[in-house]
Parts: sequence; structure tokens; C-alpha cells
Amino acid sequence: MKPGPRVHRSPQRAAEVAILFCMSRFIQVAVPLPLRHPLSYRVPDGWPVPRVGSRVLVPVGPRAVTGCVVENNVRSVPVDEDAIKDILKQVDDEALVSPTVMKLALWAADYYLCGPGQTLEAAGPPGGQSGFRMVRHFEITSVGRAFLAERTLGGASKRTGTIGPRQRLALETLVDTKVGLGQPLLVKRGVPAATLNRLIARGFVRGEHRRVMRHPSEEGGTEHQSSRILTSEQSVVLAGLSATLSNKGFHVALLHGVTGSGKTEIYLRLAVEAQRLGLRVLVLVPEIGLTPAMVRVFRPVFGTRLAIQHSGLSAGERHDQWHQTRAGEVDVVVGTRSAIFAPLENVGLIVVDEEHDASYKQEEIPRYHGRDVAIMRAKQAGALVVLGSATPSLESYSQATRGRYELITLSKRITGQPLPTVKIVDMREEYRERGHEIVLSRLLVTGIERRICKGEQVIVLLNRRGFASAVFCRECASTANCPNCSVSLTVHQVKRRMQCHYCGYWRSLSAHCVLCQGEYVELTGIGTERIEREVRRSCPEARVARMDRDTVARRGAVSALLARFGRLEIDVLVGTQMIAKGHDFPQVTLVGVVSADIGLGIADFRASERTFQLLTQVAGRSGRGKEPGEAIVQTLYPDHYSIYHASHQDYQGFYRDEIAFRKAMRYPPSLALVNLIIRGRTLGAAMRDGALLAEQLRRHAQDEWVLGPAPAALGRLKGEHRVQVLAKGTHRGRLREMVDSALGALPRLGRLITVDIDPVSVR
Ligand code: ADP
Ligand code: ZN
Repeated sequence: MKPGPRVHRSPQRAAEVAILFCMSRFIQVAVPLPLRHPLSYRVPDGWPVPRVGSRVLVPVGPRAVTGCVVENNVRSVPVDEDAIKDILKQVDDEALVSPTVMKLALWAADYYLCGPGQTLEAAGPPGGQSGFRMVRHFEITSVGRAFLAERTLGGASKRTGTIGPRQRLALETLVDTKVGLGQPLLVKRGVPAATLNRLIARGFVRGEHRRVMRHPSEEGGTEHQSSRILTSEQSVVLAGLSATLSNKGFHVALLHGVTGSGKTEIYLRLAVEAQRLGLRVLVLVPEIGLTPAMVRVFRPVFGTRLAIQHSGLSAGERHDQWHQTRAGEVDVVVGTRSAIFAPLENVGLIVVDEEHDASYKQEEIPRYHGRDVAIMRAKQAGALVVLGSATPSLESYSQATRGRYELITLSKRITGQPLPTVKIVDMREEYRERGHEIVLSRLLVTGIERRICKGEQVIVLLNRRGFASAVFCRECASTANCPNCSVSLTVHQVKRRMQCHYCGYWRSLSAHCVLCQGEYVELTGIGTERIEREVRRSCPEARVARMDRDTVARRGAVSALLARFGRLEIDVLVGTQMIAKGHDFPQVTLVGVVSADIGLGIADFRASERTFQLLTQVAGRSGRGKEPGEAIVQTLYPDHYSIYHASHQDYQGFYRDEIAFRKAMRYPPSLALVNLIIRGRTLGAAMRDGALLAEQLRRHAQDEWVLGPAPAALGRLKGEHRVQVLAKGTHRGRLREMVDSALGALPRLGRLITVDIDPVSVR
């Protein structure tokens, strides 16, 4: 430490000196690394001070990292000034992250106990593309027009005489267009760049650079009827929400509407109302696959004032959509959870569709929940949030029952059709009568056949891809497991492989046991591949297709498959929960659920909630047209409350049972939960570190509970052992402080611990 400024004792004098020392200027930069606080840097003399919200290149250790300026008027720095390094480069000369988005990102970092640079990275411009695509655009000038006219008339020209065939082609092509043409099109028509340059030199053509937008393509086009008459239920709901919107204050409404009750139409009308009030709108959907359906409804109304934001776009499209939004050229952004950080100002309405969906939770750093960040963004902006779902999360519904959110109900389907009837098939009986080999119950098979004869469609759901979920050797009783993770390998018959769904490990399928070479290997557990085969076998006349992560790996494959289904080119669609969500196919009159209880065996406090949601959602795909719908649910636990209530479409009944369970077991939403996973090369090491962490947590606890350490349910993942510590508390803020203090006391463990605030799963 240099003695210099230290000699001045009075605080006032110290401040004066600090101002003097400000000749060298300091800024604070958040870098995308797991550091809980921004770092200080110096702006070299003669450089302009970078704006808050702009990006700078800074040295971190031996590396150069791009970070975001969070503070640019720093009077004094906590460490020795000489130790502070200079920034290396200013990346932007303007602030790409606005004060509103900055505030949100900093809140998220604080709340989720991660680095401000990590949330700011999510809020910043997409990488990969540095600018708009510019294309040279050409128009014919009046001189060029006159020249061409004289030539065509055959009159001898007073002007410069000759013109080559390519120059002539260019002029003739351009004269036919009112607005001119871009260079790529002219080149395609046989006019090279050199010709265009020559024409410019002669004054016949004018050229300029223009921005060309890379628009995400959408299938389907404009199928929306904006002249639709709302149902009386919809009208009442819309009127209420519109009034709330025009009050321009923070408000959360939970729109609990049964499947097919027309929630999307309400979002749309409300967005129109917001636009009329000069407010901007954010619409979140849980998955990329659900954006096309939402965009198809919104695009005809908002045109180019609508932007899309999700990771499925190409780098160019993402760049253009993001920067157009930031430039204020957009009123509505539709996107997945990351769109909650969209660079939109003056937000008055945020819609979170299918708010219960677990996909809103990001399962990597920053581990934020899109719905919860949406509520905070609305709070900061004084906006209305509409959370929509047919199966609200326990979190949101309990807030509504306590009067913190407004509860709005849509109880009828648009078509006036009743909700589908749900039949439960007890598979234990089926197995007793027909043996354990069977996969499809008689009821389901005859159900499928009946629909196909009538030209109707069927969805068959199984929440597990692959052919079989395990390979079991009847000689040595071993199963084929992943060497890196504590799960069995899934058999993929089509690829002739056994594969781990967690780390991607695979090996070829063999007819012998890997351990004892025994010949009696058995495939146990079923996957979607197997179901597809069984449906084909049972109903040979049906046109069957499968939709899961294996069949839709290609970009655009999901919408292509759904479009084929929509055109009735497929009779039976077999798939994972991908097909359960959001889609609207009026010809589907039967939904089969092959094994309703797959999720129930999973050691997770949300297992019942997930099962109930999945069954209700998938049953809701049925009977959305003129014909009534039916769902057939196969299960080994027909009496389980999640299956029972789902079969009666009874959300309240389920909520009552489930909230009682959560209270008894001290799980959210009855209190707040933090899941801490400690990774280690050996179980012993992870348990030792876990014990240190638990001890620190207990030391900082007031009336919080600390459970563990214990091996996590998913005990090994990608070669590492996983140990779990759970922290619970009734006071959210205090719980977070406790975790923060404990982690602060164990800097050595920082890299080995994953902190998950409000986890959606505790495996
Ligand atoms: P939800 O999201 O509540 O399940 P949707 O918004 O998908 O329901 O609406 C179900 C179907 O009803 C869609 O095909 C939608 O286009 C249609 N629909 C919605 N509102 C109306 C209306 N007022 N008149 C006619 N059809 C409507
Ligand atoms: Zn694995």
C-alpha cells in the first residue's frame, strides 16, 4: 500500500483528495465469470469514460474478457489504486443495456446468488454477429432513364454513345422496378458488380447501402381471424384486464383457464390494448417449439412491430431481432425465458403462457426462473403480468389464494364442448390377464382403431424416448449402466445403440451381456420407439409418426412434423411430453397415455405436480374441435391422487391434496428452498465438503433448516459424485443471506458447489 493519500485523516479532506485523484478514472465492470461482485478498472488517460451498459474488454488474470460497465463514476476504490488495471478496449460507444434492464439483471444476480456479469450476459446483445446485414441497393437515375429511352427509340444520342449488353440489361432490369433492386438479385440476373460500378460512374444508376433484415421464418402464415367475436367469458375477462392495464401499475393476474378456453385470444387483445396505450409487451412461452403458434396469432396484428427472441434463431436473425427491439422499432417481443431480458423500454404488459412449465427454469448458470424474473420486471416497470395456465403451479395458485395475485378463471371451452372424458386403465389387471409383455391395453388399441376408421386423429404419449429404458441380464442380474452417471443406458433400436440421456455416452447394442457374456439379456421398460412399433403392429392401416428429441434434432423439424399432423397426413402421433403442450389440433379426439406413472417414481417433491400437469395438458389436446374428446390413461397406480384428480379434471382437488403434502413435508410453496449440490471426484471428498458446507450453513442459521449432506438422488453425473445439502426457511431473504454468508466463508469450495435458489427439481 502506498502511503500517499492515507495521511489525510478527516473524511472531508479524504473525499477532496479522492476527487483530485479522480484524474485517473475508475469504472466497475461485471464480467461473465462466477464472481459475485463487479471488478474495478481504470480508464486510460485521454480515453472517454465508457457508458454504463456498454461493453469493454478487460484483463482478468492472464485473459482478456468482455464485460459490461455497471458503474462509471467511481470516486474511490477499495484496493490499492496502483493494483488496478487499465481497460483494454471499449467495445461499444453506446449503452446496449439500458438502466431498466441493468437493474433487472443486477437484481437477478443478487437473488440467484450468481455473478452480475452472468445475468448481464443473458441481458446483453447476442453474440456471433456484429452488425446488420447491409446490401448495396441500386436505382436508375433520370439520366439513365432518358438514355435508355433514346436508345430504345433508336434515336441517335447526343450523350455518350455506346453501352455494352450487360449495362443495357442492368438498366432495363432497373427501369422495370419502381424501388430498385439489391445487388444479390442483380448479380443473380447476370449483372456483375463491375457493371453496376461503371453505370454509377456514368451517372445512370444510383447506389446506396441498405439494411436487410434477416427475419425468422414462420410456417403457417396468416390464419388468424381478427374479427372474431369473443365468448361472454372471454369478454368479461378481457374487460377486467384492460381496465387493470390502463391503470398502469404493478399487478399480477393468474389466468386459470381450462385447455381450449381461448387464453391466447385474450393475450392478443390485451397486447393490442397495450399498444394503443403506448406500452410495450413481452410474451413468454416455455419452449422454442411453442413460439410459431404464438407468432401465428400475433404476427397478422403486429406485423414487423413484433420480434422473436429465442436460441433457435440463426445468429443473424437473433442479432437483427435484438437490435431492432433495442432501437425501439418493436412493440411486442415473443420468446422463451431469455426474452425476459429483452431490450424493450416502457413495458406495460408481460404475458407468461403455461406459467407452470418447468422449462421456464434455466438449469445452468444463471439459474433463474423466467416467470419469477417476469414478475420482478413488471414490479420494477409498474406493469401488468398475466400468468396463464390450465394447471397453475402450486406457487402461483397459493399466491392467488392468499390474495397476492388476482385469480381469473375461464371454465369453458370455446367450442362449448365438455372437457375430454378420462378413462383409467389399471395395468396390473391387464398384466395379470395378458402377461407382462403387453404395452398397449385393449381399450387403447380399440380406441385408436375406432378413431382412425372415422378419419379422426390420435396422440399417444410416453414420457421416455428410446426403445427400452434398461438392459437386464437374466444370468448375472446386472443392468447396463452409464459409466459416468448413476442411470441405466436407454436402448435406441433404430440406431442400434445404448445411450445415456444425461451425458451422451453410448455404445453399440449387443445381444450379449456386457459383463458375463450371457445370452439372456432382456429389455425392460418401454420408450417411444417401442410404442411407435406397437401402434404400427396393432393398427397396421394407421399412418404413424413419432416426435421426440431423436426425431426432431434437425432445425425446423418440430414445426414440419406438426404441420404434417395438422394437414391430416398422420393419423397417430407418438411422442414425449413435447406433444402434450399448447398445440391445437381440432381433429384429435383421443389421447392415450401409455404409462402415466413414469414420473411418480422419481425422487422429487414435484413428481405428483408434474404428473398431474402432464396428464391434464395432454388430455386437453383431445376434443378441441366439433367432436368430443377422450383420454385413455394406463397406470399401475390408479388410486394415486395426482392420477385420480387428473382423470376428473379437478385442479382444486389436486391443489388441496398437494398443498397439504408440501406443508407436511416442508416443501415449497409452504416455504423457500435452496438446493446445494457439491461435486467431487470421490464420494468421500464430496461428503466431506458437503459436511463443511452444512456446518457453515447451520452456523449462520436462525430458524432455517439445513438437511444433509447426503448423496443426491442422481448420485453420479458425467463422472462426478454428487452430494446434496438442502436449506429451507420461511423467510426468503434471510434464507438467501444465510446461504450467501456460508458460501462466503468457504471460498475454496466455490467451484464445486452449485447453488439453486427456488429449484424446480432437487435431484
Ligand atoms: P388455450 O390456450 O386456452 O388452451 P387457445 O387459445 O388455444 O386455448 O384457444 C382454443 C381454440 O379456440 C383456438 O383454436 C383458438 O383459435 C380458438 N378461439 C379462441 N377464441 C375464440 C373465439 N372467441 N371465437 C372462436 N374461436 C376462438
Ligand atoms: Zn451418462
